[in-house]
Amino acid sequence: MILDCAIIGGGPAGLTAGLYTTRGGLENVVMFEKGMPGGQITSSSEIENYPGVVGDITGMDLMMPWPQQCQKFGLKHDMSEVTRVSKNGDIFKIHKADGSTIEAHSVIVATGSSPRHAGFKGELDFFGKGVSACATCDGFFYKGKDVAVVGGGDTALEEALYLAKICSKVYLIHRRDSFRASPNTVKRVEQNEKIEIILNSVPDEVYGDAMGVTGLKVRNNENITDLKVDGVFVFVGNNVNNEVLKQEDGSFLCDMTQSGQVVVNLSMQTSVDGLFACGDIRLDAPKQVVSAAGDGAVAGIKAISYVDEKLG
Ligand code: FAD
Ligand code: NAP
Repeated sequence: MILDCAIIGGGPAGLTAGLYTTRGGLENVVMFEKGMPGGQITSSSEIENYPGVVGDITGMDLMMPWPQQCQKFGLKHDMSEVTRVSKNGDIFKIHKADGSTIEAHSVIVATGSSPRHAGFKGELDFFGKGVSACATCDGFFYKGKDVAVVGGGDTALEEALYLAKICSKVYLIHRRDSFRASPNTVKRVEQNEKIEIILNSVPDEVYGDAMGVTGLKVRNNENITDLKVDGVFVFVGNNVNNEVLKQEDGSFLCDMTQSGQVVVNLSMQTSVDGLFACGDIRLDAPKQVVSAAGDGAVAGIKAISYVDEKLG
């Protein structure tokens, strides 16, 4: 059987594409998601800018009903990692990590992005042993303790605020003298007594013992400050997950920007017929849940037209 549409990734973009394709009449639609559906927002401790949602909710709360809504209209979930998408003639091939393949008339790639490492000494050695990229997942382990947060974007500042509710002190370390985060979030951070802001500084080395992290050395020009912290949370941006588009010869299936974002038009159509990309992976994505969902809707609607036209 050839699928009408294969959706790669089950975050806000992929799930919305799944909702629109199935509800819009495509019969055989499978969403390939290597983990639990919901995407990266499920690691966020708060979301306050999704339209219509009022009050303190977590990313997990927001995403919980989305898969159920899609399944109601017939979206199938294949809990597999996709390693590659290729195209032969008119037909796409989805290559799964277990070595099997599935064919599809159209493909929507919605594999999102992943947290970046900051690159300081010890960061990878202590990852999962005191260094973390998820405050919701790991914040509780540092209840009543001192921690450091690295970064100056929305994620770093929001997660610093979240950690300040659990931890006794949060050092917020940023490499410049001004933040990239939204002004309202910056204000809340500046007003929080538990957060100490350390600007124009970068982590130099995280250190510890067999039990985990015991401190972080922070560099400001030539000066090193030694912070006695038990946890270091790194929020320095994301990389786009474009590996599935890489072909055996190292080229990409469709046009990409130099930084690896997928080039799409306003229909989320890539340079390859029948191949759509949406959410954080696409060119100039605003990296918001609402825009990822909007992209997914557009990609879903356009995939229906493409398949209808192709199959008559
Ligand atoms: P993702 O959410 O990244 O989902 C991609 C999915 O694809 C993942 O589930 C992944 O497992 C899956 N996948 C990847 N590769 C493969 C593969 N090879 N095979 C199978 N499955 C694969 N935005 C807001 O609007 N408001 C906020 O308050 C907010 N807070 C945030 C807080 C944090 C901590 C973070 C990290 C981000 C936040 N964002 C927020 C941004 C928002 O989460 C993203 O813009 C949005 O999730 C992007 O959706 P997406 O569907 O494109 O990708
Ligand atoms: P981001 O906006 O790219 O910010 C990354 C931060 O890390 C920047 O301050 C950057 O410094 C710093 N940084 C990068 N590399 C570093 C390194 N090697 N060492 C030290 N610092 C480093 O990433 P983000 O905060 O994860 O946000 C990603 C996207 O999601 C953004 O578009 C953001 O708006 C969105 N988001 C939105 C919300 C919301 O709307 N509520 C919440 C979370 C995320 P410089 O500033 O000097 O570049």
